[in-house]
Formats: sequence, structure tokens, C-alpha cells
Amino acid sequence: MSATVNTQPPVTRSLLGLSKEDLEQYCVASGGKPYRAKQMLEWLYQHRVGSIAEMTNLPAPVREQLAKEFHINDLHHVETKGADDTTRKFLFRLHDGRYVETVFIPASKGLNGRQSSRKTICVSSQVGCAYGCKFCASGLAGFTRNLSAAEIVGQMLAVEKETGESINNIVFMGMGEPLANLKNLIKALEIITSHWGLNIGARSVTVSTSGLAPQIKELAEFPVPIRLAISLHGATDEVRDLIMPVNTKWPIKDLFNSLHHWRLRKKQKISLEYILIQGVNDDLDQASILAKRAKGINAKVNLIPYNTVDGLDWKRPTEEVCYAFRDVIADAGINTTLRLEKGHDINAACGQLRLKKETAEGIIEAPIKAGR
Ligand code: SAH
Ligand code: SF4
Repeated sequence: MSATVNTQPPVTRSLLGLSKEDLEQYCVASGGKPYRAKQMLEWLYQHRVGSIAEMTNLPAPVREQLAKEFHINDLHHVETKGADDTTRKFLFRLHDGRYVETVFIPASKGLNGRQSSRKTICVSSQVGCAYGCKFCASGLAGFTRNLSAAEIVGQMLAVEKETGESINNIVFMGMGEPLANLKNLIKALEIITSHWGLNIGARSVTVSTSGLAPQIKELAEFPVPIRLAISLHGATDEVRDLIMPVNTKWPIKDLFNSLHHWRLRKKQKISLEYILIQGVNDDLDQASILAKRAKGINAKVNLIPYNTVDGLDWKRPTEEVCYAFRDVIADAGINTTLRLEKGHDINAACGQLRLKKETAEGIIEAPIKAGR
């Protein structure tokens, strides 16, 4: 363990983890007026102030009391990778010396050549990940801790501050398994999608999971129309078992039962994410089984050629193989994309930047080479 890790909790709490109701309760409990909560939220999410002292329509004693108990955002920007007009990856230091990665993906030309207005942020939900998928950098060094709701919301404010851009699309596809941090995820989703908070349309928020079936059912009860993406990466238990330990707990049958349940609650199409790994899951039999599974739940399929990870031996298939795989799915009438990604150079799999930094600082041991 390095001396840079501060295991003490912060003395004050972040205001970014509180809902309107939480803030109203706080105001009343501390002898104030509930409408102060609305004023605080305006300072936080409309004016984006960096300190409680700037909340000038709150009486000075209220500000002083508030500052004794709370701060705003405790994510400290330490590094940016990538040029200004491209996908950029941000590394933030947390209050305990851990690191979290967030990726910003700017608007780009779509397949039809039209400029998209989508400005996407890819947020992390945990430091590390306990699910240990064999191909993934986030899983390599294991799990450290959940991010708080404030640290999830804070990534969006911090990236907007660094880029000067207004984000209108959020994907939970950074480090960690969001459904293993369900309580904080739901609180963050409430703050992200509410008009008093970040006010991002729920249809522009996607939660990705490696397939925690019971939690998928629980999240389906969250009463706003967020989207769901499943990291499938194998069309049969045989292939999934090889690369995703989560499949031994919730095999494909259980996973798809939970997806049927999700569809009863939500109208948006589910996305099946499928990274193509050479010699592992890229044969055309997998493609036709994947097409059948997608058809059964009316899902779309996103194919992503694997990004190589330092210390792992997995490789992406040739472009020819990727296109052949895509054609089998498209020919079955499934809406499918093949993302020959941008940001490949810097992005090379979420979790890598943090892994390098924490390894360099001795916070975590150098990860074991965990190839096939
Ligand atoms: N834990 C959740 C959320 C993380 S999403 C989940 O797994 O869905 C991150 C996505 O990137 C997942 O689909 C994951 O499988 C994928 N991924 C991980 N390592 C990758 C790599 N080296 N190349 C391409 N995609 C990768
Ligand atoms: Fe965790 Fe998702 Fe990576 Fe699997 S793919 S180790 S669940 S972050």
C-alpha cells in the first residue's frame, strides 16, 4: 500500500449525491425553509458553482452551516488523453487517492454523413470490477470500491468543466459493473434525469451490464425510460463461460428471462453488445445463434472489434471476419452496427489508464498477466 492512499472518509459530504427530497429534508431538519433546496439545486446544476460560498441568494449563516457539512465536487482532474476534437479520456483522483476514468465522445458524422448532435460521456460506476471478465482491463486488478452517487454525477460536471461542452447522452460503460452498485446507481440516475438535476432525457441514458439477472429485474422498476445494454460477448453458455465468470451464476437462460421481464416494463429496444475476439467468439455459428437470440427479444446488436489490453493476449479478428459476422446478423433482419471505433488508441478499453496510474503509484500490485 502506498502512502498516497487516504483511507479516511472526507470530513464533509458532497451535495451532488443528494436528491431534491434529501435536500428539502436537510433544510427542514436544520431549521431552515424547504425552498432553499430549490435554490441550492439551481446553483449546483444551472449555474454550476464550484463552492458553497458562491450561492449568494442563501443567507450567510445558511451558507456557513452548509459549508461545515458539505462540499460540492471532490473529483480532481489529473490527466487527459486525446486531442480536442476527438474522443478524450479523463482521469480523476478521488478523495481516498483512488482513480476513476471518464470518456468524452464528441458529436460526429453519422453513417448517413449528417452531423450528429450527440455529446456522450462514458461514466464509471466502481473503482475496478469484481466480475473478472477475462478480456477486460477493469476486471484485471479486481474490485476496490463502489462509487458514490456524488462521484457518478460528479464525473459529468467535471467533464463539462474540462471540455466546455454540454453533454446530452450518458452511457454507463466505464469502469465497474453498475448493477453491482444498484443503490448508488439509482440515486445517480434520479439526479441525472430529473428536471431539477442534470435534466438529461432518460432515453439518452444507457446502463450496460454483464448480465446480473436479478438486478436487471430490480432496475426495470425504476420509473423512467432509461435504456439497457447487455455485454453478451458469447451467444452460447459454452463461449460465455470461457470469458465471463458471471455466466456461471446467471447463465443465458436466466439472463434472457430477466430481459423478457425488462421488456414488459420498458418500450426502448435492448442493445446486445458483442465484442469480437479472434478465435474465441467470432465464428459464424455464434453469429447465427446471436441473431436468433436478438430476434427473440427484439434487440439490436452492436458489434465491437476487441481493443487490445496491455498484459492480455486476446486479439481482434480481421476486418473481413468482422464484416462476415455482421452480415449474418444483418441478413437475419436484425438492426446491427459494427463499430470500427474511434478513440481506439487512447480508449484501448476502459480501466487501463487507472490501472497504469495506480500500479505506478504502488496503490495496487502490478496485475498478473491473465491471458487465455
Ligand atoms: N460492467 C458493465 C459496464 C462496463 S461496459 C458491462 O460489462 O457491461 C464496458 C464495455 O466494454 C463492456 O461491454 C465490456 O465488455 C467492453 N470491453 C471491456 N474490455 C474491452 C476491450 N478490451 N475491448 C472492447 N470492449 C471491451
Ligand atoms: Fe467488469 Fe464489465 Fe469489465 Fe466484465 S466487462 S470485468 S463486468 S467492467
